[in-house]
Amino acid sequence: MSYSIFISDLHLAPERAHIGDAFFRFISGPAKGAQALYVLGDLFEYWVGDDDLDDPLNRSVAQGFAGLATNGTAVYFMHGNRDLLVGQAFAKRSHARLLADPTLTDLHGTPTLLMHGDTLCTDDLEYQRFRAYARDPGNQARFLAQPVAARHAEMEALRLRSENAKQDKTAEIMDVNEGAVEEALRAAGYPRLIHGHTHRPARHVHVVDGRECERWVLGAWYERGSYLRCDSDGCTAISL
Ligand code: MN
Repeated sequence: MSYSIFISDLHLAPERAHIGDAFFRFISGPAKGAQALYVLGDLFEYWVGDDDLDDPLNRSVAQGFAGLATNGTAVYFMHGNRDLLVGQAFAKRSHARLLADPTLTDLHGTPTLLMHGDTLCTDDLEYQRFRAYARDPGNQARFLAQPVAARHAEMEALRLRSENAKQDKTAEIMDVNEGAVEEALRAAGYPRLIHGHTHRPARHVHVVDGRECERWVLGAWYERGSYLRCDSDGCTAISL
């Protein structure tokens, strides 16, 4: 039976070698044989631009995906908030296709909406302001015009600020907004929804306008890797 697998929120970084190891084991193990691998954002802790592709970690990840694609697994990559500057050069080297957020797809017979998940966190106004800033083409161009080393330094500073800001926020504020989820499901015709970002792996059922919709939240990889496996019978969350 053909199946697809989903991962997100690995937050790969050179100093988190154990997550990198888990990722490469996953690529050469469970991911092999899947019809498709979907990466739903925040694969990398941050991405300073495709001109950093020759960084050893970045190069190995791209090679891993390319090997998988050559072996017959289609690789799809959706941006997260951490790696939204991943571009066509990375996609090309990875033999991956970039996916828009959201993307509605027919997943083994079931209409399924794929998102990173941050657009659903509408209660976190500070984050949404930052998201708009980071997605602004002018701001991106200014950032990318800096030397690679300066971009790394800026991302490290940003990462620290984000960690500090999170400590002042309640769990509710950083989770998805129920109304935003319902709106996304309604707009897409009441599909199944798969997303990451919140680091709260779970299966939820939403009843929207009398229609039952399943929502799968992917897990982060900090302590332990995990993925979602879906076929025509449904989805199963699997820990590595
Ligand atoms: Mn995220």
